[in-house]
Amino acid sequence: MLPAEERRQAQEILTASRKLVKHCGQLREAEVAVALLRDAMKQSASEALRRMIHGKLRDGSLPNDGIQATIPGRPGDGSICGACDHIVASYDLMMMLAPREESSHSSPREVTPIPLHADCFEFWNRERPTFTPSS
Ligand SMILES: [Zn+2]
Repeated sequence: MLPAEERRQAQEILTASRKLVKHCGQLREAEVAVALLRDAMKQSASEALRRMIHGKLRDGSLPNDGIQATIPGRPGDGSICGACDHIVASYDLMMMLAPREESSHSSPREVTPIPLHADCFEFWNRERPTFTPSS
């Protein structure tokens, strides 16, 4: 038989452990909820970007064809991304999207390359085949 004091301490430890186990369960639930939320946010962020890219394909600010075969990439220089309208920072890879110059034109119009984040570029590249002007 344990002395009363030791029994009381053992009981306290037991209660604390039970609370901890319960707390861990809640923590795991919270982690799951956070993961789900993060997924949902990522999904809505890419959905927003997808809509933005579609809008720009539609209004012509992003080409959906007729670009150069090789797209040069370089560190960002603070230009505004042509897809998401955010600055391409120096730690980002910047893709320079340039509409292909048509040789048939006697006076080829000045083509301004469109800077894009590497991620936005990939997104644009994935989206453009699915784009139709009527959609
Ligand atoms: Zn971007």
